[in-house]
Amino acid sequence: MKIENNNIEEEEKSLNFLEEIIENDLKNNVNNGRVHTRFPPEPNGYLHIGHAKSICLNFGLADKYKGLCNLRFDDTNPSKEEQEYVDSIKEDIKWLGFEWHKELYTSDYFDQLFDWAVMLIKQGKAYVDDQNQEEISKQRTSPTEPGIESPFRNRSVEENLKLFYEMRDGIHPEGSRILRAKVDMNSPNMHMRDPIMYRIMRAHHHRTGDKWNIYPMYDYAHGQSDFIEQITHSICTLEFENHRPLYDWFLDNIAQEGEDRPKQREFARLNLNYTVMSKRKLLELVKDGFVNGWDDPRMPTISGLRRRGYTPASIRAFAKRIGVAKRENVIDIAVLEHCVREDLNKTAPRIMAVLNPVKLIIDNYPEGKTEYVTAENNPEDENSGSREMPFAREIYIEREDFMEDAPKKFFRLTLGGEVRLKNAYIIKGESIVKDADGNITEIHCTYDVDTKSGSGSEASKRKVKGTIHWVSAKDAVKVDVKLYDRLFSDENPAGNKEVADYKELINPDSLQTLSNCFVEPSVMSAKSEDRFQFQRTGYFCLDKDSTPEKLIFNRTVTLKDSWSKKQK
Ligand code: ATP
Ligand code: MG
Repeated sequence: MKIENNNIEEEEKSLNFLEEIIENDLKNNVNNGRVHTRFPPEPNGYLHIGHAKSICLNFGLADKYKGLCNLRFDDTNPSKEEQEYVDSIKEDIKWLGFEWHKELYTSDYFDQLFDWAVMLIKQGKAYVDDQNQEEISKQRTSPTEPGIESPFRNRSVEENLKLFYEMRDGIHPEGSRILRAKVDMNSPNMHMRDPIMYRIMRAHHHRTGDKWNIYPMYDYAHGQSDFIEQITHSICTLEFENHRPLYDWFLDNIAQEGEDRPKQREFARLNLNYTVMSKRKLLELVKDGFVNGWDDPRMPTISGLRRRGYTPASIRAFAKRIGVAKRENVIDIAVLEHCVREDLNKTAPRIMAVLNPVKLIIDNYPEGKTEYVTAENNPEDENSGSREMPFAREIYIEREDFMEDAPKKFFRLTLGGEVRLKNAYIIKGESIVKDADGNITEIHCTYDVDTKSGSGSEASKRKVKGTIHWVSAKDAVKVDVKLYDRLFSDENPAGNKEVADYKELINPDSLQTLSNCFVEPSVMSAKSEDRFQFQRTGYFCLDKDSTPEKLIFNRTVTLKDSWSKKQK
């Protein structure tokens, strides 16, 4: 598949194909001019960025056309579903900034679905099959050959009813029988070759408990749930395009003349490179300990992105930017990073933090003195104000900002060279101290007292080639910083045929923890999830595992935008 680099400039595009469909329906007063969508997650895992696309789409269309959007938990498979997932899904949708019209559950419709199944049996349109799934699949043959009818296809209505009630009542063991719709064993569409409607399952359901011994299949439950809720536009991903005739077949047999009927519409799912995006695989990463839970900042889950420092606005902007299409593609993860960078650039306060510190001593600065320098909080936001930062004789700077044998093009600190300490003074490198291994332990400098930033003096306007960040050694807060890289070293881990298991492609260096970082003291008032730009370094947010004694920062993204450069 081709990697798409969507064009940033094209923000406000013309209508997408779903909007066109809806506007056309509104014009023709289809469903009495109502727009009612739904977001239908199965509560078998945490939501990921692909779901965010679907959420933005369904809730967004409802908002745009003054309609409604339901949150429906598609809870028809009790063996995999849990309350924890229901709670997390609600939390994630709210965090993204959307409100559902109603919170509903497919399991609320189990009685109605059962009654309709009985009705279909009575009409001769459904039958109980005693074969196992394997035999049934075999008899479906292939799209180009006629299928083989089940020996149970022509059971009498009475026998079907009796068996179906017995299935419900728990008389038959799991896997011994299923209910099938009697559609067309010769259809070129395999989904129409007598699809399964119900299976026997003895599992405890998170809402209906042990009431049911049979559970409906997606294809039967989904469309009927849409119909019960009077959904107008049932939006799903392209894999379900072939299911659409079946969706309509059930409604043809269940909906009455004149009743509003939902229409299924398909769009291309979101695929992102360097990650996996199925709940089953994400669950595996969690269970097998490759990550530290569903909200590990390396996960493509909404909760992971949130913990990483993504804003709801950046995810919504991403969904808008990638748009909706009818053709599958792969989006470069750099597009997502670009969106958060763009948002944080406008909203994140700037602070100074030194991740790889080396001590710098200003020999001609008075010992014991502390003065305050003024620093703008965010030059991109004129309402953000400024703050006072302590400055003293001993500071930390980044080790990389000093070079003993510097090439000509090195514009940071060197011996004999000058550099500006951001928001403070111009300093000059004088000498260094090394330990027995040759590592620099101290850099000694002198400062020019007349060059204080913002003082207005002639000397303060003097230009030097480089400006570096710093923190006052005695005032800075020592923190942990976690740097994240891509979770997989392969662009398409799930599709790589050279490995037996996608997990072999996990990037061993996806997490690096730095535990000797110093941040300016204003950070002490930060709350969990607060986001900052560490100047010259990147965007960071305060992790929820932080304590007053030990703050932990997650790097959301670096400052450099490789993707936006590619666009130029
Ligand atoms: P997964 O395979 O990750 O479990 P799913 O489709 O089985 O995904 P559901 O909980 O059934 O997950 O999905 C809820 C809604 O989100 C569906 O309407 C589905 O089409 C949509 N969705 C899921 N994955 C994506 C994706 N990658 N891009 C866009 N929409 C998605
Ligand atoms: Mg699913």
